[in-house]
Amino acid sequence: MTDNDTQPLDVAIIGGGPAGLTAGIYASRAGLKTLIIEGSTVTSQITMTDLIENFPGVPEGTSGFDLVESFRKQALSFGARTATADVSAVRKKSLGGFEGWELVCGGKTFDALAVVVATGSAWRRLGAEGEERFIGRGVSFCATCDGPLYRNREVVVVGGGNSAIQEALFLTHFASKVTVIHRRDRLRADDVLQKRAFANPKIEFAWSSVVKEIRGGDLVEGVTIAPAGGEGKERVLPAEGVFIFVGLTPNTAMVTDVVARDAQGYITADADMKTSAAGIFAAGDCIHKTLHQVVTACGDGATAAYSAQLYVEALKGESY
Ligand code: NAP
Repeated sequence: MTDNDTQPLDVAIIGGGPAGLTAGIYASRAGLKTLIIEGSTVTSQITMTDLIENFPGVPEGTSGFDLVESFRKQALSFGARTATADVSAVRKKSLGGFEGWELVCGGKTFDALAVVVATGSAWRRLGAEGEERFIGRGVSFCATCDGPLYRNREVVVVGGGNSAIQEALFLTHFASKVTVIHRRDRLRADDVLQKRAFANPKIEFAWSSVVKEIRGGDLVEGVTIAPAGGEGKERVLPAEGVFIFVGLTPNTAMVTDVVARDAQGYITADADMKTSAAGIFAAGDCIHKTLHQVVTACGDGATAAYSAQLYVEALKGESY
């Protein structure tokens, strides 16, 4: 692919995380003219994870950043190109007699015969008073990025899933005390993480509690929590950092009008990663499925690229 090439792309991949980059490896290695569009304002969430210890073949563990960098290098080595832009819409477009797609990114557009949506998901907000006001001033969604700011300080983590517990454990490297505030009396996180957290002397739990308010002046000074059922007394926990990990929201707004999604906004894709729109495939954390993990995102990405390859070959009359 050259810069003055006016032919449409065979496949445009939206998203530069594990799913998108794996799709890029497979599509470019199959000889497809491939562009991976990485978000300019959104980065893959996995790059904020300091330790991934369940990716097969890497028993010593790796950081999300290093893993994604190695995926990117591999995709580029097979000829995939990358662009940095936020795709705001995907629209049908006739491309030289073929039904294709136009990707709108601000004032710029990309034309492609097939699209792989691998846009991942974003941290869900808690909705507590003070949450928005204190973002960047004590409220954080990234322990890897902000944890070192809280050396010898007290912090709280909100949530009971894998993210909350993994990040709580990471924060114990810096903070003097980490209180996990969870709305139920048992964790959702994997057993191995639970055991580590229960054994860590720096971690305490505020069970069956919800955050009513994040308090402070210029910076966070504490949180007001209340019993989850609504009955009982509120109390204030002193904390300078509030790390919120209460689940994810898929980044699928750009395809709202073109592909079917579930009630939570996750794209519904079949086993071949086909969506309800011909020529649009989806992969990774933005699709409806049971297990959102790096390894499953990679599998989805490979399948989506292969399905896109078969689709483009059929469109061009090049199937064999
Ligand atoms: P998650 O599994 O959906 O857990 C979200 C947690 O937040 C749950 O404990 C939930 O409580 C709680 N929560 C949700 N809404 C809340 C609210 N409004 N107020 C208070 N608490 C609320 O999300 P996640 O932990 O971010 O994980 C996302 C995906 O990534 C999962 O598939 C996870 O397995 C994966 N992941 C894996 C690893 C790993 O394998 N090491 C690490 C990180 C993430 P309930 O439990 O009561 O529902």
